[in-house]
Amino acid sequence: MDSVLVLLHTESDGSLARAAFEALGTARKLADALKGTFTVGLVGAAVQAAADAAAASGAARFLGVAGPEFGQPRYATDAAAAEAIYRAAGAAGAASCVIAPGTSRWCRVLPGVAARVGGQADTHVTGLSAEGGVIATRWYYRQRMEAVLARGQRPWFILLDPGSQPAWGGATGSARVEPVDVPVTAELTRTVVTGVQAPSAEEQTIRPDADLLFVAGAGWTKTQTDGKTHTDQAAQLILDFLRKSRASLGGSKSLVDQSTEGHGVLPFMSHLNQVGQTGATPRHPRGLATCCHGEEPHTVGWRFITERRAVNLDPSCGWSRGKADVLYVADAFQVMSRVNALLAERGTGSTRQEAMQNGQ
Ligand SMILES: Cc1cc2nc3c(=O)[nH]c(=O)nc-3n(C[C@H](O)[C@H](O)[C@H](O)COP(=O)(O)OP(=O)(O)OC[C@H]3O[C@@H](n4cnc5c(N)ncnc54)[C@H](O)[C@@H]3O)c2cc1C
Repeated sequence: MDSVLVLLHTESDGSLARAAFEALGTARKLADALKGTFTVGLVGAAVQAAADAAAASGAARFLGVAGPEFGQPRYATDAAAAEAIYRAAGAAGAASCVIAPGTSRWCRVLPGVAARVGGQADTHVTGLSAEGGVIATRWYYRQRMEAVLARGQRPWFILLDPGSQPAWGGATGSARVEPVDVPVTAELTRTVVTGVQAPSAEEQTIRPDADLLFVAGAGWTKTQTDGKTHTDQAAQLILDFLRKSRASLGGSKSLVDQSTEGHGVLPFMSHLNQVGQTGATPRHPRGLATCCHGEEPHTVGWRFITERRAVNLDPSCGWSRGKADVLYVADAFQVMSRVNALLAERGTGSTRQEAMQNGQ
């Protein structure tokens, strides 16, 4: 009989991110299906607040590795902490399946930990069930084929794709954390994280936690009905919308290729924004595609977006019609000017959601 350990790391403020709550909910569901219990393992500078946030999840035990050295995402300390928790939980026979959110921090470390303890690891898992044993699902070939996997080898480390699971959302309580000791040697801490270099939150347009994915297509840079292009206005409208809505920005290949071909179109758009077969397949709850016709962005790029809407001048745009839940046949310049004006009138944040819900 398999038993479940869920490994979570805290954020810099000691809280748990949404991906951690998704892993927690999945561990709970799997343990229920296996008619067993599950253990929560926590790593961070301090872990009590995170344990309290998960107190009502039904976990049988909370194990924690805490200390300033474990607040930083560093391979040596993270791997040592994960291994120590695995061994502490495993000593009670409670860790044949180790579930963790597929954050960059855990993706970097847990396959190595699996090797250290003689196990196997699978990444990008999007579903877990128990049908005569633990079964995992994941996608291959750019999300075109879904595989169903079972493994005989244990321990099995399973990294869940963030955004693929419902997040557990119980009340905060009071958890008793069993401390797990990891001696902090000079060897473990010889790599020092001196800082993070990242664009400021304002410049950052890729926001995996956003409610909405806004996809911009090449139509924004095409000649419009007045016989001219309006690329500067397009850039302004899109950036204004992103600032007000906090949406994440995706782009079609045609659009992102233009910026690297020296056309200097939308300067904030790079290949990192590309969605589609040769781009990303994000998992936001809502999507709005504008000026976008391509097959790949519509069929592959946002196949995991739950509610999809598109704005296109062309009423017979086959991909918008076929793949969007709602197609607005309209000029995206006019639509987004109006949406931005509504967002400005009503303030920002949740108003975007209202505007979307009202079909505006
Ligand atoms: C092997 C391969 C892999 C590929 N991978 C990807 C991929 O990963 N991602 C990807 O995106 N593409 C990919 N492509 C390219 C893809 O096939 C399309 O060529 C591309 O997506 C088209 O981009 P687009 O829809 O932005 O531009 P277009 O096809 O030029 O469409 C522009 C649209 O904008 C509309 N429009 C213009 N002005 C307005 C306005 N004012 N208001 C509203 N609508 C307006 C037009 O009606 C038109 O429908 C791939 C192609 C190949 C061959």
